[in-house]
Amino acid sequence: MAQTKKSKSVKRQVAKTQTATPKKAGSDAGKTPAPRGPLAPERVAAILKALDEAYPNAECALTHKTPWELLVATILSAQCTDARVNIVTPELFRRFPTPAAMSKASQPEIEELIRTTGFFHNKAKSILGAAKKITEEFGGQVPQTLAELITIPGAARKTANVVLGVSYGKAEGVVVDTHVFRISRRLELAKSDTAEKVEQELMKVLPRDRWISFSHQVIHHGRQICTARNPKCNQCNLETLCRSKDKTWES
Ligand code: SF4
Repeated sequence: MAQTKKSKSVKRQVAKTQTATPKKAGSDAGKTPAPRGPLAPERVAAILKALDEAYPNAECALTHKTPWELLVATILSAQCTDARVNIVTPELFRRFPTPAAMSKASQPEIEELIRTTGFFHNKAKSILGAAKKITEEFGGQVPQTLAELITIPGAARKTANVVLGVSYGKAEGVVVDTHVFRISRRLELAKSDTAEKVEQELMKVLPRDRWISFSHQVIHHGRQICTARNPKCNQCNLETLCRSKDKTWES
């Protein structure tokens, strides 16, 4: 009986000591643990490595010589292929090479030149509005901050991020177009149902120095392999990392 009492007392002491043991200096105490599952850093790194291997030189496919031309081309690329935009822009920029020149054009003149890109009425209105705003408020120069860019007619976050990343090498956000939206969700890097929310998720999970290249690479991947319908999973170098229900092939 005496032995039992002693043993209970020892157990209580051990428990007390364990609770009170301080964490070793330099341990991970207090740090937020790294995420596991689809967002585990090593998985994200493996995805980025596979994208680098598949698309080492991925760049913006819109032909342009200046930030202004890129801004206009990006506005025109909504609901239109980059190839079609690249057919239309040379004549548009030959006729109206600067924001000041474009701001003096009439809307029907612009509409006629961009008609084949679709939604030409709204796009012409946006381009004309952008030309006027940049001429009158930004001294004829496309601004270099997201906050200023999104005040320009026709330039929401996606367009602003394209111009900032491609023309100025600035990563203030991640370009989320239809390909980035679809593939980020297929790869479980994001799960939201709007482009804005997916961008916020990607900004948390991707290293900032990959925000620009990630979008270029994923856009190429979406065009060539991870298409909206019937993705070519048997040709995809991300296949072993992907658990999407849309997969058409499993290794
Ligand atoms: S395995 Fe298929 S669904 Fe997954 S990323 Fe590759 S092409 Fe897309």
